[in-house]
Amino acid sequence: MERYFDANATTPLRPEARAAWVEAMDAFWQNPSSPYRSAARVHARLEDARETLAELFGIAADNVVFNSGATEGNRDVLAYWHRLMSGSRIAVSAVEHPAVLENARQFWGERASIIPVGEQGRVSLSSLEAAIDDGATLISLMTANNETGVKQPWREALTLCRKRRVALHVDATQWVGRESLDGLGEVDFVTGSGHKFGGPKGTGFLLVSALHSGFSGQRGGAQENDHRAGTENFPAIAGMLAALSAAEAERASVAARWHEGRTAFEQALLNDLPGVRIWGQGAERLANTVSAGMPAGENTRWVRLLDQRGFAVSTGSACATGKEGPSYVLAAMGVEADDARRTVRISALPTATFEDWRDLASAFRESYQEIRAPRSGSQVIDIP
Ligand code: PLP
Repeated sequence: MERYFDANATTPLRPEARAAWVEAMDAFWQNPSSPYRSAARVHARLEDARETLAELFGIAADNVVFNSGATEGNRDVLAYWHRLMSGSRIAVSAVEHPAVLENARQFWGERASIIPVGEQGRVSLSSLEAAIDDGATLISLMTANNETGVKQPWREALTLCRKRRVALHVDATQWVGRESLDGLGEVDFVTGSGHKFGGPKGTGFLLVSALHSGFSGQRGGAQENDHRAGTENFPAIAGMLAALSAAEAERASVAARWHEGRTAFEQALLNDLPGVRIWGQGAERLANTVSAGMPAGENTRWVRLLDQRGFAVSTGSACATGKEGPSYVLAAMGVEADDARRTVRISALPTATFEDWRDLASAFRESYQEIRAPRSGSQVIDIP
């Protein structure tokens, strides 16, 4: 059976999520806005789900908007802010997901400043301050990067934004279900995505602080307290909530297991593959993620060789796969294009065991031997 190390791309449905989803598909399929008792029961369940999510973040239920995922949430925040403040500026970090960067460009064009990151992949508070001095009225900063796992100083950014009376949007897609939710409820806008923590794909949420009660995303019907039109997909929302509750319950033990497994894995890579680089190693990172620049061999070849050995890993972010050129995230950190093309992303599921990490390290060792070995019929070259 394949051992899956691409959890930052997506995760399988948790059993708790599946059970809640199937139950709701069978028993609570009516439109929550319809005017009879069976629909009112779905509506009541939907509001319970909203309450549960709100409690996890310590906010009021009115501030939770269910949607289709983080791409929608990110786009809607940038579009809404543009409707409100189009004469001003915004600032987004250079390593944001394309759902932020592309929409910032589309809506804000030249009025969107790009906040640089240092070689460890983090933005500095002084560059955030500079963006605010430059007129930014909204900052968009992710909690942790999907390619490198590097955490951003979003809590410090929140303090700064409050002081300077600037709004903060935090893309928490890779954080929710893995890291403490403390503090997120105080941010102006937070985007989350169900399929990153074992919920169904096509589910997500946006937290909108009470300061922005006029927020609206896609227009049409009056669902989601007028914040987001479209019939709510209650079964999927129920699945997402079940997944998040399960993830929260096991979060501390999973984090400890990831830490142990990943530490051993990285040590093995550093010992066995001379010249390997771990990007963002000096920064705080999500404990399930490794972005490793290999000493030789294109990352597509590594992915193939590891796949043949039963491991699913990635060349970078799933959204960037198939796009031309090396990772813009690594480029922003000053990584050379050739090094970026040799970079493999490993991101573990909560179920990954120490043995999985250890066996993955062995598969890297074997793949390296194959990459170094001359292909039959070809010239022997010395790989530095
Ligand atoms: N933001 C980040 C940081 C992500 O990693 C992703 C998905 O990879 C997204 C946004 C998009 O999320 P979704 O698939 O829910 O649209």
